[in-house]
Amino acid sequence: MSLIKDAPPFWQSKTLEQMTRQEWESLCDGCAKCCLHKFIDDEETDDESELMPTTYIKEGEQMNYSNIACHLLNDKTCQCSQYSKRTTLVPDCVQLTQDNIDSVFFMPPSCTYRRLKEGRGIPSWHPLLHKGKKSAMHKAGMSVRGKIVKDSDVDLDYFEDYIVLWPLDDID
Ligand code: SF4
Ligand code: SF4
Repeated sequence: MSLIKDAPPFWQSKTLEQMTRQEWESLCDGCAKCCLHKFIDDEETDDESELMPTTYIKEGEQMNYSNIACHLLNDKTCQCSQYSKRTTLVPDCVQLTQDNIDSVFFMPPSCTYRRLKEGRGIPSWHPLLHKGKKSAMHKAGMSVRGKIVKDSDVDLDYFEDYIVLWPLDDID
């Protein structure tokens, strides 16, 4: 008699491109770090263009994270309060899909999509390894809970006062 080993989970057996829509969606840990405003150090911008949205980053430029979150984010659950209308209500809202996975560099190092794209697997605190619950992620300090201000409550002209390093943290 031979023992049948359990099949590996989909995130180990499939590439990001091969996943079903449901599998793809379930990868999101719900950390909400992607709902934070980010700023690129760019020598070419002036006062007028400084806060214009961009979709690319040039070699040598650095992306800085702030603790300023989108006004539609529920800061307790870390969920979007208008998920179905988000791209209409917030045109800059980054919706990562299998078709634009190359934009994953905009995501923080702990983002599951970025981790899998970079071959780093799923971290121990990920909700998929905790019956879908986010408590291990919050406990590990990997979500934005308790660390943010809303963009509706601050003057974005002073974004430099809100630059933080914690969104770059990652724990295996
Ligand atoms: S950073 Fe990545 S894993 Fe976290 S909420 Fe955004 S898309 Fe999901
Ligand atoms: S619209 Fe929703 S998903 Fe998009 S950045 Fe705002 S809170 Fe996050």
